[in-house]
Amino acid sequence: MLHIQNYVNGYLIPPQSGRYLDNMEPATGQVYGQIPDSGPADVAAAVAAAEAALPAWRALPAEERGRLLVKIADLIDAKLERLAQAESQDNGKPLSLARVMDIPRAASNFHFFGTAAEHFATEAHLQEGIALNYTVRHPIGVVGCISPWNLPLYLFTWKIAPALAVGCCVVAKPSEITPATAFMLSELCIEAGLPPGVLNIIHGTGPSCGQAIVEHPGIKAISFTGGTTTGRHLARTAAPLFKKLSLELGGKNPNLIFADCDLATAVATSIRSSFANQGQICLCGSRIFIERPVYEAFKAEFLRQLKAQVVGDPLEAATTQGALVSQAHLQKVLAYIKLAHEEGGRLLAGGRRVSVPGRCADGYFLEPTVFENLPPNCRTNQEEIFGPVVTLTPFDTEEEVLAWANSTDYGLSATIWTTNLTRAHRLAQSLHSGIVWVNTWLHRDLRTPFGGMKNSGVGREGGLEALRFFTEAQNVCVKL
Ligand code: NAD
Repeated sequence: MLHIQNYVNGYLIPPQSGRYLDNMEPATGQVYGQIPDSGPADVAAAVAAAEAALPAWRALPAEERGRLLVKIADLIDAKLERLAQAESQDNGKPLSLARVMDIPRAASNFHFFGTAAEHFATEAHLQEGIALNYTVRHPIGVVGCISPWNLPLYLFTWKIAPALAVGCCVVAKPSEITPATAFMLSELCIEAGLPPGVLNIIHGTGPSCGQAIVEHPGIKAISFTGGTTTGRHLARTAAPLFKKLSLELGGKNPNLIFADCDLATAVATSIRSSFANQGQICLCGSRIFIERPVYEAFKAEFLRQLKAQVVGDPLEAATTQGALVSQAHLQKVLAYIKLAHEEGGRLLAGGRRVSVPGRCADGYFLEPTVFENLPPNCRTNQEEIFGPVVTLTPFDTEEEVLAWANSTDYGLSATIWTTNLTRAHRLAQSLHSGIVWVNTWLHRDLRTPFGGMKNSGVGREGGLEALRFFTEAQNVCVKL
């Protein structure tokens, strides 16, 4: 039984209430651990520890802060296999995916921001002979980092690392659905010698523990990744307190396939962009628009390659599709499949819950699912499903597909498949998406701005954007 504790002021401690919540293993549907049911008192203790640690941490040279972060990165690398197994058990994702994506990326996050801290420079503006303005970027103070369940350690560290790098102290909360690797990170921080109070990790539910973080007056900025509805609620709470907010929210991303594309690569990558992590990546392209001359060819090859997907025990090497994260989420995705039928969708593949024999008999497995014949404006094509469900839709003109691509309330990412370079650039400019991939998907460079337009969020993470977010800019004007 995994027994998770909070990490406050350098110690692993129980919640003040003494209460714990069950942690489920999605592949088996069984309780396999317990997590603290923390509340405002635990958050207050964490904020007090962070405030106490702040003066020394921000005074440390960036190089020394960076060295500690790189040490944490190295420890993550050294424990890759254990962390990958924990992520797979906690989330239901294939172990093979956690090994190559989640855990290596968590290490990269610490390494990238650990080394970036040293190169983070400020600007100066000279009015020749008149005045010199220079900008100082102070760490904003104690910050809150709240993350979701789909890429647990990956997204948790994506927020924490830049905050620590610039000299902030952190009170962080992972999703209560996937707390295991965040707990293991607290053990690694102790092992790395991170000073007590610099990072505090509190476990618990959103309404109790997350809400307390957002409301606490000692927390100056909130970096949040999660659903759009939660983000809206957070913004409502934080705005009157004048907290800085970074919101990375939901998506309903279009995947545009033009007739002149390299169809083999487009199909193979579209299988990944549709179903990787059981479709539970905010960047998955769930609306696939295909230019009519290649519609049938794309569909045939897509359905052929889909047959190679193996739904099964996440720990098995052959598995490509693990379990959905929870019973509630499985029910939500199944409800959308029902809706797609009601809206007139023609089912091309999947659509049903899968029973995996053996230890996974009660797990939350679902077939990768493909529909066609659904209008771009129906609910299936407008609302975020966040599961292994995609739609195929033919289009005739660039104008038509652009209008459809931009027709949702979301604007996180888009993918364009074409060999026409002019069209690729032209379309990229017109898409209302924070991220546009051309002839690739989920290709990441940690220096680039990451985030969404419209209801997909406010602000950008990544590179300098993330470092700046966790600072307060101050201009000093010197008369010459
Ligand atoms: P969620 O909004 O339910 O929860 C996210 C986090 O917020 C959890 O830690 C939760 O406990 C916490 N929370 C809930 N209520 C809160 C409150 N009142 N105050 C403070 N914290 C609260 O999201 P989820 O179901 O865990 O994640 C799935 C969603 O995340 C999807 O919509 C997905 O698109 C989105 N997502 C976005 C990105 C991105 O980068 N834009 C990345 C991954 C996931």
